[in-house]
Amino acid sequence: MNGTHDRDVAGQASGVMEHPATINAGIIRELEAIVPGGVKTNVPLEQVSRWRVGGPARLVLQPRSAWQLQQVMTYVSRHQLPYVVLGSTSNLLFADEGIDVLVVQIGSALSGFQVEGARVRSEAGLWVPGFARQLALAGLTGAEHTCGIPGTLGGLICMNGGSQRKGIGDHLIDVVSVTPEGERRVRSRQECDFRYRHSVFQSLREIIVSARFRFRRAESCQSVRREMLGILAQRRRKFPRKLPNCGSVFVSDPAMYAEFGPPGAVIEQCGLKGSRVGGAMISPLHANFIVNHDHARALDILTLISLARCRVRDRTGYDMVAEVCYVSPCGDITPAHIKADELVAIGAAVTGSMKRS
Ligand SMILES: Cc1cc2nc3c(=O)[nH]c(=O)nc-3n(C[C@H](O)[C@H](O)[C@H](O)COP(=O)(O)OP(=O)(O)OC[C@H]3O[C@@H](n4cnc5c(N)ncnc54)[C@H](O)[C@@H]3O)c2cc1C
Repeated sequence: MNGTHDRDVAGQASGVMEHPATINAGIIRELEAIVPGGVKTNVPLEQVSRWRVGGPARLVLQPRSAWQLQQVMTYVSRHQLPYVVLGSTSNLLFADEGIDVLVVQIGSALSGFQVEGARVRSEAGLWVPGFARQLALAGLTGAEHTCGIPGTLGGLICMNGGSQRKGIGDHLIDVVSVTPEGERRVRSRQECDFRYRHSVFQSLREIIVSARFRFRRAESCQSVRREMLGILAQRRRKFPRKLPNCGSVFVSDPAMYAEFGPPGAVIEQCGLKGSRVGGAMISPLHANFIVNHDHARALDILTLISLARCRVRDRTGYDMVAEVCYVSPCGDITPAHIKADELVAIGAAVTGSMKRS
């Protein structure tokens, strides 16, 4: 995923240093000079992340413009600084140890929006429900399905997120990103390789800055608004809203869906609704959501992910894949079930060696 340090690539690109730098006071000072007022240190992720989970993030940088971001990435590449890109964290589970590498967070400072006829250009930090609202005001149809998704447009593009089996990539023309070396890059929709909850940005280390879309003229602004209100009402009925969560934990597999139903229904059939580990719980309202009901740790959530996967596999033969991603202390981002499986393997090895001794 869109994690950090592919050392060889960064090394070849800069050709300057042999080892990645670690964050120190000098680096923080120099980055503050590039992004004045946009640098934070020791940010407690358990207070600011969507799931309210995670240790401290050592250094968080919030660029105010695409130009600033290019300067930052040029610096990062020259110093071979490992980094990770975040939006609003609504699809991410952070390690209990926190993040040791530089966090580049794209948010409201980069949230411009322009309409010209049926064409729209929007910056990556724009809040998705705000994006949908602007489209309704402009009388454009095609992105109503995004109106209740709590994330930034950049995060949504990276995940090719959406609802009702649609994805944000459907109406996209092209995406502007900044490469790990600080260069501006434009990718056409075809180059973005959009598939169900997938885009090329999950394996590239580029940072999305803006995107252009082509929508259709709606019958009226009211018709778009009506559809959005219907979608929001449905989401309010179905999804847990009071306790911190990261939306659907598992991706819906069409084959499993056809035979047994969506992940939430199958997890429920396994009798797991309301199951708790530590401070985490499989939501009693919708079993494909895991809520943080009492100071949950990442480990609690990963254990529940593993439990749900095991039970569903035993019942159906299908291996559910996580939509939410785990962010390791070194900034690697991987679908959370991979980390959950790793923990199970470690647990089994420890139990095995205890039995032998
Ligand atoms: C209550 C709730 C309901 C949800 N419902 C839905 C839904 O219906 N449909 C759906 O698809 N999702 C849903 N989600 C998940 C989430 O909102 C989306 O995946 C969202 O688009 C993520 O955006 P973000 O800004 O929070 O990204 P983050 O969670 O911060 O990051 C997600 C990924 O995108 C990458 N990324 C973020 N910004 C950029 C950027 N500018 N450039 C490059 N990479 C970037 C990150 O590295 C990471 O890999 C829901 C979440 C919650 C909490």
